[in-house]
Amino acid sequence: MSDLRTVHFSDTTLRDGEQMPGAALEPEAKLRIALALAGAGVASIDAGFPACSWSEIEAIRRIADTVPDPIISALCRTVRVDINKAWEALSEARPDKRAVSLFVGTSPLHREHKLRLDIPGLLRVIRDSIEYARQRFHIVSFSPEDASRTEPEVLAEIYREAIDAGAAVVGFPDTVGVLSPDGVRDAIRRIQDSVPNIGRAVMACHFHNDLGLATYNTLAALREGVAIVQCTVNGIGERAGNTAFEEVVMALALHGESMGLATSVPTDKLWPLSQLVAELTGIPIPANKAVVGGNVFTTEAGIHQDGLLKHPDTYLPFRPERVGAPPVKLVLGKHSGRALFVERLARLGVELDGHELDALIALAKDSPKQAWGNESALLAGAVAKVRGKPPSH
Ligand code: MN
Repeated sequence: MSDLRTVHFSDTTLRDGEQMPGAALEPEAKLRIALALAGAGVASIDAGFPACSWSEIEAIRRIADTVPDPIISALCRTVRVDINKAWEALSEARPDKRAVSLFVGTSPLHREHKLRLDIPGLLRVIRDSIEYARQRFHIVSFSPEDASRTEPEVLAEIYREAIDAGAAVVGFPDTVGVLSPDGVRDAIRRIQDSVPNIGRAVMACHFHNDLGLATYNTLAALREGVAIVQCTVNGIGERAGNTAFEEVVMALALHGESMGLATSVPTDKLWPLSQLVAELTGIPIPANKAVVGGNVFTTEAGIHQDGLLKHPDTYLPFRPERVGAPPVKLVLGKHSGRALFVERLARLGVELDGHELDALIALAKDSPKQAWGNESALLAGAVAKVRGKPPSH
């Protein structure tokens, strides 16, 4: 067991997650989520972007004041004014608990169109900002934005410079979510082979879900030696969202050992955390969302219901209590079997004879889909109808 490598989680729900259109978090809500993240065992929290506003600085300060254990990190562009704002937010925090995370676009698109910087100019900006940040922060992390679309030799030079300037953590962001798992493996191996001082830094990965591959890509990066997963709860974030925390945790809970990986994150915190983030951000969890969707432990199909009533594992990948979810819900619907109709009628205190029951099931199954929304009313109506008729022999 001891040869398993521990995976650490750096949660960015409060920063990349909050960037999702429609998501908005007041400082109080941010604090509640940060406390829940600490309870779920994340190693660090990307608490916000101080250059964005005063309330953002205030929120980061309150989180650093109140939340135990995880490192609290503030996001900065590679400019001194952003680092100064991060210092305003974090100067009171314990030195070993505060960090800054610097980023700059490194792909040709970013260099030419956004920054108008050549490569020597970019390297200078990176070195200068990291050295400046290091004067105040022990933990400086650096991410080349759009790394997945940056030329490999340029990227290697950038990492070498960043680590030499004092970056303790280097990120590998697939900013627009275009990589495949093979692409991730190749990219990480190339970095490890071509950056001479890579051993002095810890690698983090940051994936987006534009192709539905964020979790798979994350596992691929972990297999190659990446130690830190940047992710969000419910996978919220820009466009198709970020790597979902709960998906990686459960994948590691089920398959970590065979991958040589372990995590200390308790899986039974996942469901309540997911609910809290949905409630406070206003971004609902899709019903079919992996691990935490409402339908993961709900079924309407008669064959599945019959199986689940006989043994809960027949149609479940894992038990609901393992992720802290409420018990399995069997929903009455047109696909349900006779046994569930009998059970639900009994709950209403109704006992029907065989003929009445056949008639009621036929009637109920022909009811429009929306009528199932109020199961008791539907059943009561059907009972009245079948009892109004003489039983047919
Ligand atoms: Mn991102």
